Amino acid sequence: MAEALHFETEVIQVVLETMDVFTFRLEIPADVPFIWRAGQFINLTVNTPEYGPGMERLTRAYSISSSPGEGRFLDLTVKYYEDGHVSRHLREVTYVGEVVGVEGPSGDFYFDAGAGATGTGAARRIALIGGGAGVAPLRAIARDILERGLDVDIHYLASCRTPNDMIYLATLMAWTEHHPNLRVTHTITRPQGQGWSGPTGRIDAEKLRACVPPESTDLYFVAGPTAMVASVREALKKDLGVDRSRIVWEPWG
Ligand SMILES: Cc1cc2nc3c(=O)[nH]c(=O)nc-3n(C[C@H](O)[C@H](O)[C@H](O)COP(=O)(O)OP(=O)(O)OC[C@H]3O[C@@H](n4cnc5c(N)ncnc54)[C@H](O)[C@@H]3O)c2cc1C
Repeated sequence: MAEALHFETEVIQVVLETMDVFTFRLEIPADVPFIWRAGQFINLTVNTPEYGPGMERLTRAYSISSSPGEGRFLDLTVKYYEDGHVSRHLREVTYVGEVVGVEGPSGDFYFDAGAGATGTGAARRIALIGGGAGVAPLRAIARDILERGLDVDIHYLASCRTPNDMIYLATLMAWTEHHPNLRVTHTITRPQGQGWSGPTGRIDAEKLRACVPPESTDLYFVAGPTAMVASVREALKKDLGVDRSRIVWEPWG
C-alpha cells in the first residue's frame, strides 16, 4: 500500500457537474511521488479565514474521482451544502490557483484485480452503487478498470434526486458506447414533473435484486452519505443474503 504523503498544491480547474456538484482538479506537483488506487480518498485542507478565528483552516475527506491513468492530477467531486463550511468555501470562494493542502491517499475502498478487493477473493462481476456525490470513487474505479482493459463486468447503479442531478452522465454514456462490459442505471428519487421514464425511488432491495442480483454479482462497492450506505448494506445482507465479505463500503459520516 502506498504511503500517505502531505503536500501543498494548486487548484487548476473547476468544472460544474450539476447545479450543486463541482469537480475540482488539483495538480500533483512533479516532485511529489503520489501513488493511489482508484477509489481512495484524500484529506483536503483549505484556508477559510472567512469563518473567523479558530476556523481559518479546515480539513475534510474527499474521494478522488479521477483514475491514476488519467494523468498527474486529482479530481475531487464535491456536493455543495449551504450550511457546510468546506463545501461552501469550495463553491463560493475557491479559484483556479488557490493553494490547498493534501494528505493521502487513504482508505480500503478500491478494486484489486488480483484479489477481488481487500482480500475478498477474485471478482469478475462488480456492482458500483452510489447516492449523490457518492459516485465520485465509483467513477474512478470504473474508469480504471476500463482503461486497463480488465475482464470485469461493471454495473454502475446511482441514485439522485432529479434527472438534472445525474453526475458524469455524458462521460458514462460515452464509456458505455465503447465498453459493453459497463452498464449504467440511474434511479431518480424525485421524478415528479421531470419527464423521466426510467427507474424511480431509492436503491432498495427490489432495485438491487433487479439490477445487481447476488447470483450474477461477485462484489458490491457502496459509497455516499452514511444513511444511504447503511440502508443499501442492510438490504444486501438481510434481503438478498449477500455475505459481508462481498460488500466494500465507504460511508461519509
Ligand atoms: C472517506 C470520505 C470520502 C468523502 N468523499 C466525498 C466526496 O467525494 N464528495 C463529497 O461531496 N463529500 C465527500 N465526503 C464528505 C466530506 O468529507 C464532507 O463531510 C462534506 O463535504 C461536508 O463538509 P462541509 O464542511 O461542507 O460541511 P460541515 O461544515 O462539516 O457540515 C455542516 C452541515 O453540512 C451538511 N452536511 C454535511 N455533510 C452532509 C452529508 N453527507 N449529508 C447531508 N448533509 C450534510 C449538514 O447540514 C451539516 O449540518 C467524504 C467523506 C468521507 C469520510
